[in-house]
Amino acid sequence: MNYVDLYQSGELLKRVREAYHRLGSCDLCPHDCRVNRLSGERGFCGAGFRPKIASANLHKGEEPPISGVNGSGTVFLSGCSLKCSFCQNFPISQLGNGEEISIRELATRMLKLQKRRAHNINFVTPSHFLPQILAALWQAIPLGFTLPIVWNSSGYEKPDALELLAGIVSIYLPDMKYADDSQAFSVSGISGYSGSNRAAVSEMFRQVGHLETDGDGIGVKGLIVRHLVLPEGKGGSVDTIAWIADTLGQETHIALMSQYFPAHRATGISGMDRALTHEEYDEAVEALEHGGLENGWVQELDEERGAV
Ligand code: SF4
Repeated sequence: MNYVDLYQSGELLKRVREAYHRLGSCDLCPHDCRVNRLSGERGFCGAGFRPKIASANLHKGEEPPISGVNGSGTVFLSGCSLKCSFCQNFPISQLGNGEEISIRELATRMLKLQKRRAHNINFVTPSHFLPQILAALWQAIPLGFTLPIVWNSSGYEKPDALELLAGIVSIYLPDMKYADDSQAFSVSGISGYSGSNRAAVSEMFRQVGHLETDGDGIGVKGLIVRHLVLPEGKGGSVDTIAWIADTLGQETHIALMSQYFPAHRATGISGMDRALTHEEYDEAVEALEHGGLENGWVQELDEERGAV
């Protein structure tokens, strides 16, 4: 079952309606704000009724199965359900920079990226605009939209919201940011991240399984987990990697990232105000080896950013 089948059977429209219904007392993510976004109220993420995007462009800096040769059709959504103290994109995620557009315009941007030969449409930080994305897809399909959809999220999501994406999203690209809820709360201002994140990633995996690629190495469907190693082990790398190996399996694709640097408010937070040490990053790399996780990508620790 793919999104064209869901469109033709009427199931996609049903899901669009169900998703919009949830905006009336918004419970799309674990914050459960219960604000009425249909009437313009805003919750923790700052998102309103209309989709708001910061950009829609070809991007070649994602993992190779996502970027491919032509690039990924990346649509950056404004706002976020996390408030990470170190967020490099905080003007978009926390200050809400971007442009409010109509559903029709969002569908048009998706079609334009398809025309530019993007391998996929990659929605970045999409969770709070799930209904609007489904509605844009519903408008784009009869206009000839056929690209795979990538869901590039913080992983702070609810399984029952993600169920609305079954058969629609081809590739899930979630973060697994923390294994310890107290770290998630102090660094990113969110409650219960670990349990919500693991339940969300399990639902994603249930829908799409392990990553599959075509003959050119372009992702067709599946899961890629991203994990950014944080200073002082605040990201819980060893615990998270062990959970992935035990729960999802050793075939799981992981993108291990070393690119942490103290952006935004992190410069004023003890322990977050520096780059990673080699020991901190090596511990995460060793956890991958220990867990037998060989699929994916391990970023080099960037000396120029001042690893200590
Ligand atoms: S999507 Fe936004 S408004 Fe809705 S529950 Fe999450 S943070 Fe609150």
